Amino acid sequence: MGYDGPTDLYIDGEWTEGETGEQLPTVDPVTGERYAAVAKAGREDVQRAVAAASRAVAPDSEWRGLDPSERAAQLRAFADAVEARREDIALVESRDNGKTQFEAQLDTGMAVDTLQYYAGWADKIEGSQIPVPGGRLDYTVREPVGVTGHIVPWNYPFQLASRSLAPALACGNSVVVKPAEQTPLSALAFAQAAEDAGLPDGVVNVVPGDGPVAGEELAAHPDVDHLTFTGSRAVGKQVGATVAGRVADCTLELGGKGPQLVFPDADTEAAAEGVQYGIFMNAGQMCWAGSRLVVHESVHDEVVDQLVAVAENLPLGGGIEDNGRMGPLVSESQRERVLEYIETGTAEGATLAAGGGVPDRDGYFVEPTVFTDVTNDMTIAREEIFGPVLSVIEVESEQEALAVANDSPYGLLASVWTQDLDRAHRLARRLEYGMVTVNETPNTFPQTPFGGVKQSGVGREQGRQAVQEYTRLKNVTVNIDG
Ligand code: NAD
Repeated sequence: MGYDGPTDLYIDGEWTEGETGEQLPTVDPVTGERYAAVAKAGREDVQRAVAAASRAVAPDSEWRGLDPSERAAQLRAFADAVEARREDIALVESRDNGKTQFEAQLDTGMAVDTLQYYAGWADKIEGSQIPVPGGRLDYTVREPVGVTGHIVPWNYPFQLASRSLAPALACGNSVVVKPAEQTPLSALAFAQAAEDAGLPDGVVNVVPGDGPVAGEELAAHPDVDHLTFTGSRAVGKQVGATVAGRVADCTLELGGKGPQLVFPDADTEAAAEGVQYGIFMNAGQMCWAGSRLVVHESVHDEVVDQLVAVAENLPLGGGIEDNGRMGPLVSESQRERVLEYIETGTAEGATLAAGGGVPDRDGYFVEPTVFTDVTNDMTIAREEIFGPVLSVIEVESEQEALAVANDSPYGLLASVWTQDLDRAHRLARRLEYGMVTVNETPNTFPQTPFGGVKQSGVGREQGRQAVQEYTRLKNVTVNIDG
């Protein structure tokens, strides 16, 4: 498949090559070959995009003047336009990121669901009336924050971009999106869908570019009223500091080191299936990956044997080949990073029970890998690897399992596998995580809040919580007694 989609920046309703004249090459991770290149935004391009977005939400703008029900209709049209392009977007996403077609279809499906869900919110954003002393009427209104910036990573490019764009637009903001360098193509499809749906110029702007240039400019720009950053902890801290420094608001969705707790009373077959999905899906390149298996000693061998069998037989092959269950890593440097962690795991005394190497084929693949004999102080139990590497930690009790699970700098998602209802709810209450699943692989819905505690981030995406993030509250007091 050749790429014949857009390659320019999208600013103020126009496709433009941008000021740098430079390009971002995109590489197919399945073959290692370059197959497309897009215009690379410089600082001035980002400034132009923010200026266009500011005009699009000015008090007298077309977008701002829409009734909420009209905005809802536009968002439904936008969701339909994305749906109409969904098959093409899934192909592009597979090619850009390396993920399997099955995974890309899931992602684009979730993106459409999210857009539809927030289209429904556009005319349901309510304030409240507050009883105050005297002859006064006091009420609150939720208003758009203005221009929202969105810095997106490469692991779920389209789905994560939609996750934050959809509520931002539903709340009446205009958006500037900076996709990751490795995976810029699917974000440009948003711009196409915005055109198809007839959104006013400047409401959606897309500026692929380098993080330290285009991303930094977006974070630092004084007219960006809210910044949503999804990416690594290191860059997130920097971006968060920049945004706080200009007294603006941000949502940070960072990394994780998710524990998957398996108890003797679990359906161990279902647990093993769920655990493998939670670490090998998307080749483990997931913020919410269940990368630590915390398993009771009495079912340790049984669960590990099943996982090793899966790891050794998982069909590899991503991109637009449809015959694989696990694709490659996104880039050569990401593969190097993962292989270094595997070396460290062995050096620190963990046992390689499956994988650990590179399969004999083209592309940036790493074998599905299972480490046993891991202790929670080892590097592979503490740091986010962002690859298909599972660290198995054996425990003797529920108390120990909980202590191991909570002993992490991160707090995004924890999973519990048990048939004991009391244990399930007890742990759900005590796990220091933003999300907990019980007898469930990592799963989320547009309706449910997504986000973490500790170093996993600040704020929440999805659900009604995102509406709070993308609106600001105004209080109005009226003296009605004259
Ligand atoms: P990254 O932080 O390197 O890059 C993320 C984005 O930030 C990219 O668009 C990049 O261009 C941009 N960026 C880089 N430097 C920047 C700078 N100085 N200023 C502004 N922007 C800059 O992360 P990555 O390697 O692309 O993604 C992997 C990380 O993302 C993992 O840590 C993962 O856990 C995290 N992640 C979190 C979630 C979540 O919802 N919590 C979801 C997906 C990924």
